[in-house]
Amino acid sequence: MSGGHGYDNYSLMIGRFQPLHKGHLEVIRQCASESDNLTIGIGSAQYSHSPENPFTAGERYLMIENTLFDEGIENYCIVPIEDINRYSVWVAHVASMSPPFSYVYSNNPFTRRLFEESGYSIRESPMYNRDEYSGTEVRRRIVAEEDWRTLVPGAVAEVIDEIDGVGRIKGICGGNL
Ligand code: ATP
Ligand code: MG
Repeated sequence: MSGGHGYDNYSLMIGRFQPLHKGHLEVIRQCASESDNLTIGIGSAQYSHSPENPFTAGERYLMIENTLFDEGIENYCIVPIEDINRYSVWVAHVASMSPPFSYVYSNNPFTRRLFEESGYSIRESPMYNRDEYSGTEVRRRIVAEEDWRTLVPGAVAEVIDEIDGVGRIKGICGGNL
């Protein structure tokens, strides 16, 4: 623990993780290594079973936990965060769901502005192979029956297989529910 305040080097990142892919994993690896503790916020937590948000917060929780177990990363916590449609109080909403944190990792200008206005420090997180490592691309490949497994950690493919995530996404997107 550094400095006088125990939470000086606690940080936060937020994603929807629909599903967790190797780009997320890279950024989590980096953020966790730079932080005493990293809170991983699962955004849009209340949504599931839609084309943009096929997986529940609980399923996404499992993807993250199993992947980070395989990676040997332990200095993190996971908190589901429901959307609220009121930006002026969104940061307080996030903070109320999370352990204390001082830094926020984000490359989204709007997220950065909201946290900065509330007095948090921002740390830039680079994008890795964004053409392939994107949730939209993983979901597209699942529907198109192209190779999506190379884009996600092994533990994520396992969770998706166990819950028949492929069948779910094809059903939702193809209209054969
Ligand atoms: P979707 O296409 O479903 O929106 P996504 O790939 O954009 O998925 P999100 O779940 O929306 O991922 O999470 C967004 C956050 O995850 C970003 O703000 C960024 O910090 C991080 N992220 C996403 N993709 C990458 C990547 N390829 N490299 C590094 N960080 C990434
Ligand atoms: Mg996104």
